[in-house]
Amino acid sequence: MKPLRDTLRETIALEGPITVERYMSLCLRHYYATRDPLGSAGDFTTAPEISQMFGELIGLWMMEVWNGMGRPAPCRLVELGPGRGTLMADLMRATRLLPDFKGAATVHLVETSPALRQKQQAALASSGFSLQWHDYIGEVPPGPTFLVANEFFDALPVRQFVGTERGWCERLVGLEGEHLIFGLRPEPEPALGNPLKPGDVLEWPGASIDVVDEVARRVARDTGAALILDYGYWGPAFGDTLQALKGHRPVDPLVEPGEADLTTHVDFHRLAQAAASGNARVHGLSTQGAFLQALGIETRASALKARATPAQAADIDRALERLTECGPTGMGDLFKVLAVTHERIDAVPGLPALSPSS
Ligand code: SAH
Repeated sequence: MKPLRDTLRETIALEGPITVERYMSLCLRHYYATRDPLGSAGDFTTAPEISQMFGELIGLWMMEVWNGMGRPAPCRLVELGPGRGTLMADLMRATRLLPDFKGAATVHLVETSPALRQKQQAALASSGFSLQWHDYIGEVPPGPTFLVANEFFDALPVRQFVGTERGWCERLVGLEGEHLIFGLRPEPEPALGNPLKPGDVLEWPGASIDVVDEVARRVARDTGAALILDYGYWGPAFGDTLQALKGHRPVDPLVEPGEADLTTHVDFHRLAQAAASGNARVHGLSTQGAFLQALGIETRASALKARATPAQAADIDRALERLTECGPTGMGDLFKVLAVTHERIDAVPGLPALSPSS
């Protein structure tokens, strides 16, 4: 296969500079289609890969919400970007506690990468659930929907605009000799108004807004709930959050296109606005640490440790710390949690009832 770098150079030479959004989109499609990026041998590690407790607690959350909504049957259990299928496998194991939920749910995996679809198939084939794969949330058949997305939205492309004296100008990727470089479209985007100060960067997550809008309309129409976990912030905020990771280390996002993981931080405020305009109710924001603690992660860790060897018990303690601890080495406060439900649901486990005022 031709390296993506060559294809990009040809495209830019022919058509001129491309937007950051298109650059991210081409890189990410290539990246996810050609590898399993997760785990210690890959480029990054996610919460479900750290401990089974993560997926199990999300399973309990789903069952409790489903139960509280009057046990709608049949229903759709949906995951966006399921990676290796680990979260879903752990969630499914937890559903043994509530056989009626297991009986009611068909499972829908929204995944574009053929390589990861294969991994998911292998991880989930013996679960006893009926499994279907889709390229896009819009393809999931209607019905009450219980959806989870962990580290999915950070992997969707964004547009970037840079504040200049002229206004907000879109950031582009162009060529200087053989090298890819960042540049700016000379004309500003009038719809964005005037930047407060030159050099500010505004990120516009159009693809994420479309997905949340679709999810919100579904749960508003058919009932259900969606749980979104990701690293990010409650905007508005200005800054360039585009980053590339390869082998667990930051690299220049333009140097190895399609060979490094590209992400941006998720602006949960924008997602909440998209959900509210789709007539759904928003719950949160909470930090991952507070959310998992509210769902009882410490009790679950103690139960697992009671049946563990000393080495396994030490692993469980390390995982608990990594998932819940705040600060630069933990995921506890960098990662955030938001839920989107049918308007009639006024509370969900582990999250504040009302969204912070915008
Ligand atoms: N949720 C998993 C994996 C996170 S990595 C975990 O927590 O471990 C991001 C996942 O989203 C991968 O499975 C990737 O292939 C998938 N993905 C990325 N962009 C996508 C898109 N546009 N549509 C569907 N899936 C996508």
